[in-house]
Amino acid sequence: APVVSLAGVTKRYANGTLAVRGVDMAIGQGDFVSLLGPSGCGKSTVLRMMAGLIPPSAGRIEMASGGHATGDVGFVFQEPTLAPWSNALKNVMLPLRLAGVPKPEAEARAAAALASVGLAGFEKSYPRALSGGMKMRVSIARALVTKPRLLLMDEPFAALDEITRHKLNNDLLTLWEAERFTAIFVTHSVFESVYLSRRIVVMAARPGRVVEDLSVDAPYPRG
Ligand code: ADP
Ligand code: ADP
Repeated sequence: APVVSLAGVTKRYANGTLAVRGVDMAIGQGDFVSLLGPSGCGKSTVLRMMAGLIPPSAGRIEMASGGHATGDVGFVFQEPTLAPWSNALKNVMLPLRLAGVPKPEAEARAAAALASVGLAGFEKSYPRALSGGMKMRVSIARALVTKPRLLLMDEPFAALDEITRHKLNNDLLTLWEAERFTAIFVTHSVFESVYLSRRIVVMAARPGRVVEDLSVDAPYPRG
């Protein structure tokens, strides 16, 4: 069974904007899918509906074993959205503490998550002392620390310079190869979608819709 599936999903916002129409999509366990399309084609809307943050106006969204319990979905936004008064470890611990995980276990798991994104040794650093790329790494660690069923990333590296972006893309791929979480990566960059994933769902605007669902046999060469 897919981790998440959409059937005939349409979203019309309260102001009348038809953001997406008739979206069908099924994401399998362990898939790393790029959602590619121009600004305004409804990529964020699709992601927000998958996360259960907003309801569809029509159609069905199903998560494996039902429900949209937060904790089932990890979300990474373009802005790192870290708490400035908490260090990296505390930021990553937060979703575990909210889920009732005892402090020592939360600390150990958060430290392991930080190490998995290349930030061992930065546990006590505050966001203001970290670069944009490092803050994004903390955000990824925080999204993955609960081992969510689905990781949703909304143009996570778009604000970073090209070299940092390239490093993060490579490290994200390495992490996915090690952990095989299920992920959807939103981007408006053709290159980034091809570089990161072997399945690319292409959307177009006015109205937002899926126009292609492409699979490629071999990964793009890493470099
Ligand atoms: P993308 O992520 O591909 O840039 P969005 O999902 O953000 O696209 O937006 C799709 C369309 O819905 C756009 O026309 C956008 O202006 C509109 N939209 C997004 N959020 C809202 C909202 N909260 N209320 C009204 N319209 C919205
Ligand atoms: P857009 O589709 O937004 O115009 P592109 O995919 O053409 O963006 O990317 C612009 C440039 O950024 C590319 O020519 C490439 O040099 C660089 N770039 C984008 N993504 C990556 C990546 N994953 N790794 C390395 N360079 C990248």
